[in-house]
Formats: sequence, C-alpha cells, structure tokens
Amino acid sequence: MLTCQSMMNATSYSDVGMNIADTAVGILLEDANGLVQHCTPSLLRHVGLPEPSTPSRGRPSSALHEAVATAFLDRAGYLDGVAFLRSRGEAVYREPLTTAAGHALERTYVPLRDGDVLTGTLWQFSAARSPDDRTAERLALFEGIFAALPGQMAVLSPTGRYEFVTPSAIRDEALRSWIIGRTDREYAAYRGRAASFAEAREASIRRVVEGREIDEYEEVLRDADSAARHYQRHMVPMFGADGTVERVLGYGLDLTQLRRVEQQLVQSQKMDALGRLAGGIAHDFNNLLTVIAGCGDALMLEIDEGDARREVLEPILEASKRAADLTQQLLAFSRRSVQQVTSVNVVEVLDRTVAMLRRLVSDTIEIRVHRAPGAQHVPLDASQLQQVLVNLVVNARDAMASGGTVSIELRPLSLAEPTFGLAAGEYVELEVSDTGHGMTEEVRQQVFEPFFTTKPAGEGTGLGLSTVYGIVTTANGTIRITSAVGEGTSIHVLLPSDRRELVSGAPATASAPVRGTGTILLVENDALVLNLVRHTLQELGYEILAAHDGVEALAVAAQYEGPIALLLTDVVMPHMGGGTLAQRLKEGRPDTRVLFMSGFVDDPALAAEIAQGDEGFLQKPFTLHLLAERVAGVLARP
Ligand code: ADP
Ligand code: MG
Repeated sequence: MLTCQSMMNATSYSDVGMNIADTAVGILLEDANGLVQHCTPSLLRHVGLPEPSTPSRGRPSSALHEAVATAFLDRAGYLDGVAFLRSRGEAVYREPLTTAAGHALERTYVPLRDGDVLTGTLWQFSAARSPDDRTAERLALFEGIFAALPGQMAVLSPTGRYEFVTPSAIRDEALRSWIIGRTDREYAAYRGRAASFAEAREASIRRVVEGREIDEYEEVLRDADSAARHYQRHMVPMFGADGTVERVLGYGLDLTQLRRVEQQLVQSQKMDALGRLAGGIAHDFNNLLTVIAGCGDALMLEIDEGDARREVLEPILEASKRAADLTQQLLAFSRRSVQQVTSVNVVEVLDRTVAMLRRLVSDTIEIRVHRAPGAQHVPLDASQLQQVLVNLVVNARDAMASGGTVSIELRPLSLAEPTFGLAAGEYVELEVSDTGHGMTEEVRQQVFEPFFTTKPAGEGTGLGLSTVYGIVTTANGTIRITSAVGEGTSIHVLLPSDRRELVSGAPATASAPVRGTGTILLVENDALVLNLVRHTLQELGYEILAAHDGVEALAVAAQYEGPIALLLTDVVMPHMGGGTLAQRLKEGRPDTRVLFMSGFVDDPALAAEIAQGDEGFLQKPFTLHLLAERVAGVLARP
C-alpha cells in the first residue's frame, strides 16, 4: 500500500498509474484533515478555469473542489462523487467526466494509507484515454464477466468451430484452449464420447444460420457416473455488418437440479393419486370383508366340528382372509395404513417363512440363513414382514437366472449417533444379498419408484421394492442398497428394535369368543357392518346403542342416562368423524373408553393420533374373535 510518506518522496507517480511529467495531468493532494498539500497549477487550467492568484496550499480542499465543480455541467454530481469516493476510502477509482465545455476527462481517486490509517487523498485529472488505452481493461472486464457467469457460454463459427468458450463450459484450461478452432465432433472423438450431442448441436447451429433466429433445445449428457445431466441450450445468431449470421453464441443452463425436483414432484403426485385410489378401494373393500368374514365366523360358531358344511365355509373364510391381506398390501403401498401398535419377532417369522421362500426359487438357487443372536422384535405385523422377505427374495431370484446364492442375515445394530436418517438407538438389520447380475447406479437410484422395472412386460410390476419401502419407512426404518453390475446386490433393511413386552396378537380362533357386559356406543356409517357388529356384541352379552355418524352418536349419548363403558367407532364418517366424536363424548363422560375401528385413514395426522392413542385401534376387516377380544381387552384395562 502506498503511504503518504512514500507518495511525497516519489519523483514519479507511475506506481499509481500516473506520470507527473505529463502536463495533461492535474494533481490535487490533500492530507487526512482535508487540507490541500499540493495542487498543480495545471489542474484548474485543465478543467478550463483560470489559474488561482493565491497559492491554495494549507487551505481546505473542499473550497478547491467547489471551484473545480463549477467547470462541470453537473456540479452537484461532481461534488456527490467526491463525497462518495471519500466515504468508500478503500480502493483506487477512475471515472469518466465531461466538462461544461465538452471535454472528456478522467478523474482518478487514490486513497493514501499508512497501514490501516488513511493519511491523505490524491486526485488526478487527465484527458480521457483513447479507446486503445482501454482495450486491455475492457478485455479483463469481459473476461471477468464470462468467468463469473453461471451459464455455459461459447462463440462458434457458422460451421461450428469454437472461437471462445467460458470456464463454466470447459473447466480444464488446457482443454479450453485445445478446443479453439475445433468442433464438437472433434471434441467427442478426442474424449472418446458418442457424437450424438455434437450432431444435435450442429443441427441447431444450422437452424440458426439458415433461420436467423434463436434456436432452443434441451440436451441430456451423461456425467462420469453415467447420471443424466440436463441442459437448456440456446443458440443465438450474431449478425455481421452485412446482416448475415457471422457467429453463433451458444449458452447453456444446467437444469439437472430443476429436472430432478420436477421429477420428484411428478413422482410424489403420482404416488399420492395412487395412494388415494388404493386407499379408497381398500376402505370400501374392508367394510365388505368385515361383513363376509364376520358372517362366516358367526356361521362357523353354529356349525359343529365334523359337519360337512364346514368344508364349504372354510374356503370362504380363507378367501376373505387373503382378500384382507391384499387390501393391506394396497394400504402398505400407499402408505396409508394405520400403523398398528403391533410387534413381531423377526426370528420367528423368518423361520416360519424360509420354507415358503425356498419354494419360490428354483433348485439352482441356494438360500442361506444366518441369525446373529440378539435381533428380536420389530414394529411390524407378521404379514408385512413376510411381504418384505418375499419381495426381496423374488428380486434376488430374478437377478440370478443361472443360479446362485441368496443370503438372509439378521443381526442387531446399535447406532450411537443419527445415521442414514435414523435416530440413534437399537435396530434390527435384515440383509438380503444375492450373487446376481447387480444393478447400475442409475437403476439403483430409481428402484423405489412405483412401477420402475427393468424386467420385460408381464414379468415385473415395479411394485416390489416400492412396497417394501412403504412398509419399512412407515415403521420408521430405512433401506440401503449396495450393488454393482456383475457383483450382486445387498439390500439392508433397518428397523427399529422393539423392546416392548409382546401382547399376544394371535386371535384365539380355537376357543369361543370372549363374552362381556356393559353398554357400548357403536358408531358406524356402513349399515351392513353396523348390523353385524351390533348383532355380534349383543350375542356376547353387551348392551348396544347404535348410531350412523358422530352427530347422531352424541344425540344418542345425551338421551342415555346410564354409564357408557365403551365408544366403538369408525374413524372416517360423514358429518363428524370418530376422532372429534371421541373428544366431544369424553368431555361429558370422561370414564368412557374408546376403540377406533377403520380400514383406511386418509389423514396422516389423524392416523398417527389414532395409532398413538392408548385406547387402541381395530383394523378392518376383523374377525369376530378379534372384535370380542379387543373390546374385552379395552374394557379390562385398569
Ligand atoms: P420388479 O421386480 O417388478 O421389477 P421391484 O420394485 O421389485 O420391481 O424392483 C425394481 C427393479 O429393481 C427391478 O426391475 C430390477 O431392475 C432392480 N432390482 C431389484 N432387486 C434387484 C436385485 N436383487 N438385483 C438386481 N436388480 C434388482
Ligand atoms: Mg420385484
């Protein structure tokens, strides 16, 4: 930094870009107090004012600036500039000015410093430099602009030869100079890339040259990891004096991130629409199944064992159970099932399922199971866990057309700190790995998308992994995949370890349903389900008050004077849903227990609330045994 002292000692000011010998230069040097230290006589003459009769040294420089300002048309502008530059105080600044007489001048401002201390200011006035003097400066400015641009920019000849290219387009400096005078086709050959992008650019340039208009298209390139990168390309004609297209300016914006977000949005909208559809179907279906299974159950109780009619009834019940599993899968896929507060022993389920898994694969595939001690319960139900296993093993099988090994490993996993988006804590890791063909990075990134499949039509639905994903994430777990082409695939399913005591989930189908007493307010908008449940509960010994929706239920409760032991209500109903009804009812009857029953809850917040409530939840369709058991269970709670 130039200090005041060095400034005074200097015989030449060339180090601040001036030459004192140049008579076309006027200089004003002020000290830190704003007093004039030095003022060349040429200064005033320079701006077209008469030379002063009294020396200005030691006088306030503001008076001198006032005098100089009168030489300019925009007097206030001149003085504002002085104040502004002084306030910035940090860097040399040069600006063009025009005097009232029309002379082009340049005012240079140089703050003088001694370390951090401002010791003075130097002003220089000179004739504006010729355009030639500015060329280098302007070039540097433009280079700075091009280097700073986020978009990629290039100037090409009408035949597609590069004349200029920005660092954002080609980062490597050597390559950037190599390409000048060359074409995209030569570039593609040089880098060993497919020439398709070069052909598309050539075609675009041709359109610009012939059509004399901007051409726009989207280009998809593969990066080193073969992930797609999207660019918006604009080819803009640059016209010569004769009006022909002399050059083409190409610029490109990287749209990769935007496209990715768009795709995710479309995907989640698709998921959402499908979820609604699946959920809606499951809702009505579950009501029907409740009736089918419920009536079947009731009949079964009346038919003696050994009666031939049981053989007719059993397949009906079996089919309705399978249909119920199907609607559960639909709900799992749409991630709209109310997560039942159940817990399952992974080891048990795995052992029970292995035989079935072996039947799924051919003889050329070996299934190995390894269970490390410790891995126990996870918050799923058995059918969900089985579905996860089946889907993963089927995929492994499909990846090993000529045989191989599937390894299923179970181990406890302790996370000391949040990892893979999971909170710290105890987990169960289920790993299913195969020795199959593996997958590319691009496939790996898409496998959880519903309907994404690489299998021929009719062989893959693309729902396997998305269903697994739905089940696992709803249970607050996560999935990780490691895979490489030709090196097999490992799917790691991480599920929170569930340490709670197991409440027996298996309904006691062999014994008679649990009986009970007390008054139950039953609310259900589906008349068939209402009648079935009313009938069943009455048979079991309960008093039933029935209503078709929340509003009616409140009216019924208001009319009834005795205690209501239990509110058994559907969740989604017209007029007033089960959640609001339970709240309202409990205001007046705080001792009444609540048991929700539903097949499908559309509102995730409501679903979470119901799942967390201590009152319990009965997933439709339910068997009469389960109904009896849950009702008795809720009433028996202390
Ligand atoms: P589908 O099996 O019907 O194609 P999935 O959702 O189960 O649908 O799987 C999606 C895609 O993920 C498969 O088409 C396949 O490309 C890939 N994939 C899944 N599991 C494996 C695996 N174990 N090995 C190789 N590729 C797999
Ligand atoms: Mg599959």
